[in-house]
Amino acid sequence: MAKKLIITAALCGAGTTKAQTPYVPITPEEIAADAVACAKAGASVIHLHVRDDNGKNTMETNRFVEVVQKVRQALADENLDAVLNLTTSGSAFTEEMRVAHLPVLMPEMCSYDPGSMNWANSYVFLNTPSFLEKLGAKCQELEIKPEVEIFDAGMIGNVEYYLKKGFLKAPIHCQFVLDVPGGMPGNLETLAYLLPKIPAGSTWSITGIGKAHVPMMLAGLAAGCDGLRVGLEDNVFLEKGVHATNAQLVARAVEYGKMAGREIATAQDARELLGLKKHQ
Ligand code: ZN
Repeated sequence: MAKKLIITAALCGAGTTKAQTPYVPITPEEIAADAVACAKAGASVIHLHVRDDNGKNTMETNRFVEVVQKVRQALADENLDAVLNLTTSGSAFTEEMRVAHLPVLMPEMCSYDPGSMNWANSYVFLNTPSFLEKLGAKCQELEIKPEVEIFDAGMIGNVEYYLKKGFLKAPIHCQFVLDVPGGMPGNLETLAYLLPKIPAGSTWSITGIGKAHVPMMLAGLAAGCDGLRVGLEDNVFLEKGVHATNAQLVARAVEYGKMAGREIATAQDARELLGLKKHQ
């Protein structure tokens, strides 16, 4: 039987603005509504960043609490289930702030970015060695599954290092986020380079940024990915000149997954496939 396909909806990211697309959810209410729409459309994982009242990226724990409570309530009100995956990125914030929301909210997953790079030639996407040790230890202590986001080639080498040092625990789950300027391009050559390097027994998902969104989704399906990530964090268009909603991007991933012969994973399937611990 074909593996079930885990679809992650990355709703807003740190940087997508209303000027880029009117559909990006920014307020806690908008984010909760989009989480519901995406869960209905077939997403089993919701990847969250939060914004302040001015729409700017923030790692304030209070804001995470407000958003996550609203998301959980909105899902419960509709009898929907989704795995929440909270970001830990945020180069402008202290390392303490970047993990402070985890013990408070106890999500099932969080991001783990195993290296630094020049993000789109605009700032340093900073993940220091000490932060990665602390985050890895915290994930294990709290039994939160890290989603290892791979943007660049060196990061896959670091995965091996952090596994050996015990800060990551096998089996890991990788999310290839390709075509961010400064990282690896979104093409088949990149995927062919990365895939043999993930440790045996790992699961993997893929997204391409912007124009690489659909090609990387198709490449992932062709290569037997465990998951696809879509959403306005990564891409704002459904097709050239047509803005997408998050739910439309999820629906398209469902359609492509089914065309590739895959069944779509429920949140419960995703928990089993990824070995997640459901916290109460
Ligand atoms: Zn993110």
